[in-house]
Amino acid sequence: MADTYQFTEEVNKSFDRAAAFVDASPELLEQVKRCNSVYYIAFPLRRENGSLEVIEAWRVEHSHHRTPTKGGIRFSHTVNADEVMALASLMTYKCAVVNVPFGGAKGGVRIDPKKYSVNELERITRRFTFELWKKAFIGPGIDVPAPDMGTGPREMAWVADTYNQLAASDLNSSACVTGKPVSQGGIAGRNEATGRGVCYGLIEACNVGEDMKRLGLKPGLEGKRFVVQGLGNVGYYAARFMVETGAVLVGVSEVSGGIANAKGIDVEKLMEHKRERGTVLGFPGAANLPSSLDALELDCDILVPAALENQISAANAPLVKAKIVAEGANGPTTDDADQLLRARGVLVVPDVYLNAGGVTVSYFEWLKNLQHVSFGRMEKRFDQGAYRRLLKAVETSTGKQFSVQELDFFARGADEIDLVNSGLEESMSVAYRQIRQVQERLERRVDLRTAAMVLAIEKIVVAYEELGLFP
Ligand code: NAD
Repeated sequence: MADTYQFTEEVNKSFDRAAAFVDASPELLEQVKRCNSVYYIAFPLRRENGSLEVIEAWRVEHSHHRTPTKGGIRFSHTVNADEVMALASLMTYKCAVVNVPFGGAKGGVRIDPKKYSVNELERITRRFTFELWKKAFIGPGIDVPAPDMGTGPREMAWVADTYNQLAASDLNSSACVTGKPVSQGGIAGRNEATGRGVCYGLIEACNVGEDMKRLGLKPGLEGKRFVVQGLGNVGYYAARFMVETGAVLVGVSEVSGGIANAKGIDVEKLMEHKRERGTVLGFPGAANLPSSLDALELDCDILVPAALENQISAANAPLVKAKIVAEGANGPTTDDADQLLRARGVLVVPDVYLNAGGVTVSYFEWLKNLQHVSFGRMEKRFDQGAYRRLLKAVETSTGKQFSVQELDFFARGADEIDLVNSGLEESMSVAYRQIRQVQERLERRVDLRTAAMVLAIEKIVVAYEELGLFP
């Protein structure tokens, strides 16, 4: 990996490539591209052993063309201002692509979460939330964090509770953060939403017959062999749902190295193995790969980088054998690598589209918190009654009786999880169609990433033009 890597520069290269196709002034495009607010924080932490440590953190709100802004909080020892700015800008474009009415934001705390006790992590999370609140960088209508690498529902519950202590009179305070545990105002399906969205997005991509023909593949995700880098939240759930759809997992890479088995890997058993041993290495029936990057070069149809940025570079792009690169992670492919893959005819399904499932379901969670009632609660019984009356009418007119099982199946009303998954699938499907329409409009001169960025920039430009400028 090149040490000169600047994540923001990489994102901006794809922005500039797309902006060339957008009918807007260079000045307005510059405004769309720039990060609107960058907040740097340094606060002290008392460690369990009594020592004092300075914790560095950032919150970046990339675009205020829509509010609140939205984006995850990352806990990683490699976090820096450049990384958080790049991730915040990707969030803006991602929200625009999947029609989620938020501006983009991102948070980062520069720690290796594995090196801190749960108690220390809780105090770090609460102090970070307090620092955000102090400068009005958090709130249901201001800026709404979510999980990212190194954080999950537990940390989001701490954020929600801290905010609630500070803004107790705010009736909507639980909408200040998403990705919370369901028992704390979270929504069913949020935890697995990004991985599920990756799977839905790939189903869309693999259903385009002409693209599959060009790649020498059959349409459909079923039977496609895939490799995942990073078996965390995004990677695990993407793998699980892809396997459920009929794809075959043939390789996995983690920090400690990778494994490969052309006959297929049982993802649930592998997770058990990883939990017990702390590594994927040594999984029965699979060959070990010494470096985590080796798995990216395995023979497969789809490569799903789902760990972190800057993984496919000019150095290893020529060695990637997959015909489809499915960006579960943010920024896994450098701009140079992207060009090399494109020149070789590889279909790159870009992060700004493919991993947008998380923010889409976060949007549903935010709506649930604002309406103070879960989706499906009001209409489930009513729908069941209506379906039963309809089935009764069918029975009367045909003279045939449905079985009890058939009645239960056909007359089921939707639970929250059904509505969440339906909304997610629809969002991913509509967005893919819109990206393809941009490609058609531009006479297929652009790849999927550029088309997705054109789509995003055009929507943001329209928002600026319609809103006018303040003051
Ligand atoms: P996570 O912390 O749950 O999982 C990351 C996984 O990658 C871990 O299992 C870790 O061990 C592994 N990993 C780290 N470095 C690696 C390396 N060099 N090689 C192989 N494996 C490595 O994080 P996550 O939430 O799954 O996020 C992963 C990526 O997806 C990030 O780029 C994140 O920004 C992006 N993303 C996450 C979400 C979300 O909802 N969590 C949404 C959109 C995008």
